[in-house]
Amino acid sequence: MDSQTPWLLPVINMDSEWITPIFALCVGVFCLVVLFYYNRKEWDRVYFSAPALRKIITIQNALPNKEIGGLLFGESSFGYYYVRDITTLENMSNISHKAYIPDSREAMAQLQVARSNGWQLLGDWHSHPKNAPILSPEDIDSAKKKREVWGSNYVVMILAPSGIGAWVVRRKAIRRQ
Ligand SMILES: [Zn+2]
Repeated sequence: MDSQTPWLLPVINMDSEWITPIFALCVGVFCLVVLFYYNRKEWDRVYFSAPALRKIITIQNALPNKEIGGLLFGESSFGYYYVRDITTLENMSNISHKAYIPDSREAMAQLQVARSNGWQLLGDWHSHPKNAPILSPEDIDSAKKKREVWGSNYVVMILAPSGIGAWVVRRKAIRRQ
């Protein structure tokens, strides 16, 4: 034994009866870490502040025939998305009765205001004036693209006369709330 490595002595001299429990503990911790990692998506939760929810219900009760939409701002951490404000953006689509294309310049301005409040962009919403509050195939494609561009999980909300739907778009899955 090299006298310069005295810290190794307790390990080398450790009774073999300790090896099994320590090994079992390491395996246990490893399994917990793996479980934690793979179950994170199950923890996604979208919450709304009272003013944001009031705004959503007001908008939903007065949905026009054309599609409208906007952005969702607030805070997020560890799969929790807390929506503090919902904005509307001009629909730039020339088929606004069945498609929604937000005004990107207005969106940038809203993003700056939100950041000055300490909020981040959590996602966006649009209306389905005549359809159910579910994601269309186009909605799913565009949600995946936005998730990629934005680089973090993204919330998508649909307002329809018959209800409200919200989803969290993750890298590998879209989960309904
Ligand atoms: Zn849609």
